[in-house]
Amino acid sequence: MIEILNLHKSFGELQVLKGIDLEMEHGKVLVIIGPSGSGKTTLLRCFNLLEVPDQGSLSLSDIKINFTDNKKIPQKSILALRQKTGMVFQSYNLFPHMTALGNVMEGQVTVQKRSKDEAREHALQLLTKVGLEDKADAYPHQLSGGQQQRVAIARAMAVDPEVLLFDEPTSALDPELVGEVLKVIKQLAAEGMTMVIVTHEMKFAADVADRIILMDGGHILEQGTPQEVLEHPQHPRALQFLNRIS
Ligand code: ADP
Repeated sequence: MIEILNLHKSFGELQVLKGIDLEMEHGKVLVIIGPSGSGKTTLLRCFNLLEVPDQGSLSLSDIKINFTDNKKIPQKSILALRQKTGMVFQSYNLFPHMTALGNVMEGQVTVQKRSKDEAREHALQLLTKVGLEDKADAYPHQLSGGQQQRVAIARAMAVDPEVLLFDEPTSALDPELVGEVLKVIKQLAAEGMTMVIVTHEMKFAADVADRIILMDGGHILEQGTPQEVLEHPQHPRALQFLNRIS
């Protein structure tokens, strides 16, 4: 369903992705781990072209985009790709002047052109799914970080994406709020949602991932099942990273 080939990305002189190859199937969960600065977030942001790669190719269902230096990507391809992906950011990024319900309705009305009634109904279903039906009328500042992040997940799901992308979804949260967000993500995994997740939560990674990739210095160092990567890493640098964080 998703195929990435030989992806490269630099910021000025700094080469951040140095030839990434990966594949994933529909309904699977891919978790990206690795040391800080190894390129995890940049790779995730390439999935929906928040960062545009310099070289390589990216396919998502029927969309295929080739990247070559300085060639502009057609706006049509960018929009098509964005419609198939939903992003959940580390810092929630909710619209502060809209209620939880308004946040979850917004993309449905503006991007998908659903009627307000239809969008409201769908938004309420999603807020119920993330356990926040009683907070529909609350504004972001009236919600805890964990609740805001659950609204952000409902918002990302509202436009029916084919894949959900999570960029360290719990790293801005107080420790006691991490569990409620991870529980929602696990529930989505159990329902067969396709997801790519950057996280530092190793126990969560082991529980939720079908495959894990461990990045280091812009390369994929290890790739496999949680057991293969977390318990039997092949590369000394991977072992070093895993020992440091456990
Ligand atoms: P990770 O998620 O593994 O911590 P990132 O993908 O965030 O790594 O960053 C990899 C490297 O790219 C870091 O050195 C970071 O400073 C740099 N970087 C990320 N985004 C930008 C940007 N927009 N402009 C310049 N440098 C960036």
